[in-house]
Amino acid sequence: SAGRTLVLLGHGSHLNADSAQAVRRHAQAVRERGLFGEVIEAYWKEEPSLRQVLRLARFRDVTVVPLFVSEGYFTNQVLPRELGLTWRGPLPPQGVREVVGGRQIHYTRPYGIHPAMSNVILARAAEVYPDWTPQDTALVVLGHGTGRDPHSREATQHAAERLRQGGRFAEVQALYLDQEPNVSDWPSLTRAPTVVIVPFFASEGWHTLETIPADLGLTGPVTRLGGRTVCYSRPVGTHPTVTEVVLRLVEDSADTGNTAADLDPDWQAAGEMLAQAVTSGAGGLTVGELHIAASPEGGFHLCHQDDVGRADLRAVPLQDLSAWTGRSDEGHHRPIRTGRTLPRGWFAAVDAAEVRAALHAVYPAVLEQAHLWGLGQLPVTPWPETAARQSGRYARVRRAPPEQVAQARRDLCSACLRTPLWAGELLDAAAAVPLPCPEACTLLVSQVRQLLSGEIAHV
Ligand code: SF4
Repeated sequence: SAGRTLVLLGHGSHLNADSAQAVRRHAQAVRERGLFGEVIEAYWKEEPSLRQVLRLARFRDVTVVPLFVSEGYFTNQVLPRELGLTWRGPLPPQGVREVVGGRQIHYTRPYGIHPAMSNVILARAAEVYPDWTPQDTALVVLGHGTGRDPHSREATQHAAERLRQGGRFAEVQALYLDQEPNVSDWPSLTRAPTVVIVPFFASEGWHTLETIPADLGLTGPVTRLGGRTVCYSRPVGTHPTVTEVVLRLVEDSADTGNTAADLDPDWQAAGEMLAQAVTSGAGGLTVGELHIAASPEGGFHLCHQDDVGRADLRAVPLQDLSAWTGRSDEGHHRPIRTGRTLPRGWFAAVDAAEVRAALHAVYPAVLEQAHLWGLGQLPVTPWPETAARQSGRYARVRRAPPEQVAQARRDLCSACLRTPLWAGELLDAAAAVPLPCPEACTLLVSQVRQLLSGEIAHV
């Protein structure tokens, strides 16, 4: 597998910087195993985005795993569409294979469907209630159950069924947040004196930390309620053993027919462009607000352009650089990294082979976009096409009048370092690494939706 790229996809969030943490940790854990030539992450609501990610792959053989707990609307419709696959609908057990932009893409089912998830549930239950006795303990596997796709409950149901057969609990129930049987009915749906609730969720967030405890009246990991004991665990998706499940899923769905270990030629050419840009200027290279310069001790030094020359900067290791620069100086989440809010006060020291990864950690995918734009090969997606692709509660943006799209652009793009080519703006070619924006980002789509629904006032 050394000549293969593994891409891990997460949901991410416009609001919560911690939402991507689980994906980041699993990616790092797989990376440390050295099983793949590279491991990269991408998100629906953050950068690197699903639309950009395949261009980032070093190899032409790419395996893509959705780090989602259930199969459904996202894994069957949204993710394939955003990746540029033609597949729509439930996936066969081996996943699907398609060629996208010259790369062989193997798109697998989400990890939540794997039978080994029942072990992760057991591990979470044992953390919150180590001494459970089967005859006195009920297990509730708590799924989201959005109801949009009938398949979305299957992973939760199957995990509950396997645990029921395992006989480790007096009873096992699959209950849901947004559907019947509803988790708020746990007092009547379970009988054992102790109830262990394990959220079958991919990440820690608003639901697991706030709405579920508030709705159920839980005050911590263990709460006495109505004469019974309720133990509430952390979600399954953040457990370290999920990394093993991901690897087993890849192994189980692998075939031997596709082992081309070729490097992608566009990926290589973009790397050469960067190598030339960082070594040609005497004063280093500036990309957006980032400064990259050869360091007197050897290697390269990256920092905010306004911090050049400061001796009091904090060293940030390469593996932490993405998370570190994912928040502004005020602590705000930066889902789109080219907003003009790159934090200050840090530096990263990397060697020549790591400069590209460091640039990607700060500004994901900009190098690959700049390279293609320079060749005149960066596809630009005008707003009507982006709007037509939206579905679910975002479908209404198709009806947005031009002035609302222009308003969203004034609100967001004016504070962004990229130039929105999708809106017809022209990019100044003077920069060594220019920052084109070929299509409206998810933040802009969301802004248009909120303007339309009156959640944000028009000015
Ligand atoms: Fe930046 Fe606007 Fe492009 Fe979003 S749409 S990345 S805010 S230029």
